[in-house]
Amino acid sequence: LPASAYRGRFAPSPTGLLHAGSLTTAVGSYLHARSQGGQWLLRIEDLDPPREVPGAADAILRTLEALGLAWDGPVIWQSQRLTAYQDALDALIASGHAYPCACTRREIALAGYPGVDGVVYPGTCRNGLAAGKAGRAWRLHVPAGEVMFMDGHYGAQRQDVAHQVGDYVLKRADGLFAYQLAVVVDDAWQGISEVVRGADLLDSTPRQIVLQRALNAPTPRYTHLPLLVNTAGEKLSKQTLAPAIRPDQAADELRLALARLNHAPPADCQGLDELWSWALAHWSLARAPAAPVPV
Ligand code: GLU
Repeated sequence: LPASAYRGRFAPSPTGLLHAGSLTTAVGSYLHARSQGGQWLLRIEDLDPPREVPGAADAILRTLEALGLAWDGPVIWQSQRLTAYQDALDALIASGHAYPCACTRREIALAGYPGVDGVVYPGTCRNGLAAGKAGRAWRLHVPAGEVMFMDGHYGAQRQDVAHQVGDYVLKRADGLFAYQLAVVVDDAWQGISEVVRGADLLDSTPRQIVLQRALNAPTPRYTHLPLLVNTAGEKLSKQTLAPAIRPDQAADELRLALARLNHAPPADCQGLDELWSWALAHWSLARAPAAPVPV
């Protein structure tokens, strides 16, 4: 394969073990990168210690290895990147893009309106804190207007972030950095050119594009893959008790993940090496389903 400028990544949160949903995303992201001669980096998004499951990060790494999902370079841990997130926030404050917010959850629930991701913050503190109020969280001043992007799988997407999401949180009142800030800082720092991830993040992408513009960071190409859903139609997740991937059944697990991406290997294709060479030779994003995949 020719040398390629493609740099992809997989960025699991260690809030549980890999399950069929996260594995399918990893396999699609890996195949999309490797079939184009691209790099594939790994980032553990351990940004939220209270939500972390002890041992999950190591188990995720071991499971990826067992399945032959080999990544390039060192693993990046978001817990080691807090200075970079604070630097980005400081830059946003200095350029007038971020502001402190004193509102409580309750105040926002009373004053806000429903949006794509819960209650939209109505911008109460955007023009300064009320007298006697202290800042708790930091928010991004989201400019008015629609954000558009071309998803590699789902096509043209548009969202009015200011109206449907509002000025979202960059650093929470408890001092934790928000996923949206960390993901944008790290995708830029790691030079990611292609983000391939689950469709649950399709409606986070416009938020991330707004932030890239505020930080003068490049916007990668985005491609979302269908979610896996259980018989109740719920997204597979730790909350819906999705079973963990079995690293000792690596070939079977890989075969299943490929089938869910509509790339079922022929029956005589056996073992990890053969499955991977078949999958790399046959990968076609257009063949992957768009609708949620029942498991
Ligand atoms: N850490 C996120 C998750 O596990 C994925 C982030 C991303 O791919 O942008 O849902």
